[in-house]
Amino acid sequence: MPRRRFWVWLVVWGLVGCRPGVESASEPVVLATFTVIADMAQQVAGDRMRVESLVKPGVEIHSYEPTPREIARIQQARLVLENGLGLEQWTERFYQQLQHVPRVTVSAGITPVMIAPGQPDPHAWMSPRLALIYVDNIRQALSRIDPDHAHFYTQNAQRYQQQIRAFDQKFQQFWQSIPAHRRYLVTCEGAFGYMARDYGFQPLYLWPMNAEQEGTPQQIRRVIDQVRARQIPVVFCESTVNPQAQQQVARETGARFGGILYVDSLTVATGPAPTYVRLLEHNLNTLQQGFSMRLSLEKIP
Ligand SMILES: [Zn+2]
Repeated sequence: MPRRRFWVWLVVWGLVGCRPGVESASEPVVLATFTVIADMAQQVAGDRMRVESLVKPGVEIHSYEPTPREIARIQQARLVLENGLGLEQWTERFYQQLQHVPRVTVSAGITPVMIAPGQPDPHAWMSPRLALIYVDNIRQALSRIDPDHAHFYTQNAQRYQQQIRAFDQKFQQFWQSIPAHRRYLVTCEGAFGYMARDYGFQPLYLWPMNAEQEGTPQQIRRVIDQVRARQIPVVFCESTVNPQAQQQVARETGARFGGILYVDSLTVATGPAPTYVRLLEHNLNTLQQGFSMRLSLEKIP
């Protein structure tokens, strides 16, 4: 190769190959505070942006303590997506250092359900109907930092919202299929307030929020009394907490332990809920099985 052409190649390779673009950056472009929001954002971003979750799959989100290295990652992000509704108390503690990083609250526009006086229930994503609002807020946030591809994000968001809307209908049909006097959902954490509001059932739970007092004798006694008084056939627990207290409720009341619901975290790729849509699918199947087995048993004389 002539010497001159070699230098031209070197310059072109340097300009094209080493350009610090979105794909080659080592830090995530979009950082979501936890796995559910990260998956939603990745569905909308497609292959145009890399999205990562700060809290890893299976890890408790309510009492999370970011490491100094994770705080540094947040500082390098182009956009931080957070749930809001009081979930990320832990980002408030060091937000002073993060003033320059754009933050978007993906639950914006949702009317909160209160779990205690003055304390909103953060779990709005558990209602597929409200997840549609999350997706729309994410679409707007991505389009704002990358307006050239706004149309691409809109198309992805619309396609994704179609999938979520199908689950909105399935959950609606499921709760309608349960006799009105049987519409109770007993869980470990009080994470189903939004779903209950949208689909018309009564949520009962052992403790209002994970990382507070979990499974005290008083909490267990109260739920045992409620399950007995209402003759509730099945109880459930969530993946990120110990199900022993709820299994005790089942033993003492004769209710069936219906299994594990996914709420605060997705699973790794090989688990049963690696995406939000798979989480909805898993939870719907678990509810259907839990209720149908018990309701059909009741019909046997
Ligand atoms: Zn939770």
